[in-house]
Amino acid sequence: MKATPLADYHTHTPLCRHAEGSPEEYIEAALALELEEYGISDHAPQTPEPFDDWRMLESELPQYFEWIERARVRAGDELTVRAGLECDWFPDCHEWINQLGRCYEWDYLIGSIHYLGDQWDFDNPKWLSRWAETNIDEVWTAYWEEYARMARSGMFEILGHPDLIKKFAYTPEGDLRRFYDPVIESIVAGGSAIELNTAGFHKPCAEQYPSAEFLKLAAKASIPITLSSDAHAPGEVARDFEKGLRLIEEAGFTKLCRFKKRSRREVAIRG
Ligand code: ZN
Ligand code: FE
Ligand code: FE
Ligand code: ZN
Repeated sequence: MKATPLADYHTHTPLCRHAEGSPEEYIEAALALELEEYGISDHAPQTPEPFDDWRMLESELPQYFEWIERARVRAGDELTVRAGLECDWFPDCHEWINQLGRCYEWDYLIGSIHYLGDQWDFDNPKWLSRWAETNIDEVWTAYWEEYARMARSGMFEILGHPDLIKKFAYTPEGDLRRFYDPVIESIVAGGSAIELNTAGFHKPCAEQYPSAEFLKLAAKASIPITLSSDAHAPGEVARDFEKGLRLIEEAGFTKLCRFKKRSRREVAIRG
């Protein structure tokens, strides 16, 4: 039997100012890897502008739509191209996310937490010295409380890189299930899927997001999952997907999600 056909739904474009490559190059990478679907999910604009220096402006959305269109032209009927956005979660983001949701025919929205409060984009390497003097337990608590709120909102098809807070390898002592258990419950309540994001292998934490233990709890709770690379360059498309898929299976998942026009279906994993 043919191996599981894969989709990579978390990828970026140079409009976010920290990614490289043309739509054609990304699609050629996806074709070479025989992906079944390729999803584009660049960092969404955020108000008030200018919000930070690592996303497109609202006025650049038309360029983003053109980028997606060019990708679709290159893909032709060889590959399905899906359109998404990686949106930043803030406690008061509902209206803005709804507005973004209406401006294009999206296949899915990813909800990610990169900010705690509205000031600290904790996964930005410029904050490494701040991390060294941070109370890790307090920051983890704040992060997961916010993640649970995002999950309960039900506003996103996919919840991005669940334990991104570990990126720089600052992890609390002891059993991390004290953080995981409540958020698993919230994810079930909100009905979104999560992703296994392979970018973490290449960060100081040196493992996928989320941890194997989190994945096991998610599988047990029947939370749907996708496998994604968070590619910021054509060479990163579907990076480490073999490793990622193995972890997904080992955790007990038997299916992967697909998205079209903001509705989800699941396909069986074939070993
Ligand atoms: Zn990025
Ligand atoms: Fe992200
Ligand atoms: Fe991303
Ligand atoms: Zn991301």
